[in-house]
Amino acid sequence: MTLSNQQDRALVLFSGGQDSTTCLAWALSRYARVETIGFDYGQRHAIELTVRPALLEKMRRFSPEWQARLGEDHMIDLSLISQLSHTAMTENIAIEMQENGLPNTFVPGRNLMFMMVAATLAYRRGLNVLVGGMCETDFSGYPDCRDDTMKALQVALNLGMATRLKLETPLMWIDKAQTWELAAQLGGNMLIDLIRAGTHTCYLGERGQLHDWGYGCGSCPACELRARGYLQYRQQHG
Ligand code: ZN
Repeated sequence: MTLSNQQDRALVLFSGGQDSTTCLAWALSRYARVETIGFDYGQRHAIELTVRPALLEKMRRFSPEWQARLGEDHMIDLSLISQLSHTAMTENIAIEMQENGLPNTFVPGRNLMFMMVAATLAYRRGLNVLVGGMCETDFSGYPDCRDDTMKALQVALNLGMATRLKLETPLMWIDKAQTWELAAQLGGNMLIDLIRAGTHTCYLGERGQLHDWGYGCGSCPACELRARGYLQYRQQHG
């Protein structure tokens, strides 16, 4: 695949889940230099964070091209998020719908803070593209996943730091089945298998049994979305 712009250097918001791993593959296919950033914000189940290093190693070994492009990983402590809010993502409470129509897995301000912190790091590292897995198609109504939110944030960050950062969200308008399809386009079945077994999405941190679609409890909202998307992708592609 040809490089979109030799000058562009990207920072990928990389959690160790399916979406951000697909975004990382997308960035590695386009940019000459790619770094990753991860956030520890007191997630209830830090399995996502424990799969990250092995996953990065697998992405590095995926091809000589990706090995040459994939640079440093940065882990940032954002434990202040769990000091600020009480949600089912950071505390041992049941996942349920709130009166405002948002599930209590919604962490207010999280993606805004992630992008702001990423922009600050990108400034220091000389990176000009921020890549995130935000998606308006399967977004559970999370307002900080909306395209308008990201576009407004790009303007605010660039005004506030006198930069020309680009916020890229390659998954914004596609669903989970199409996210698997994008991975297949970027790295074939080898990348599909890497994402199936290497990434973690389950809200409950379950990692006992490897299903067709990967590890997980199979019944939390994140697992259901991932499993349904994989099934649709397989039905469409055999
Ligand atoms: Zn689950």
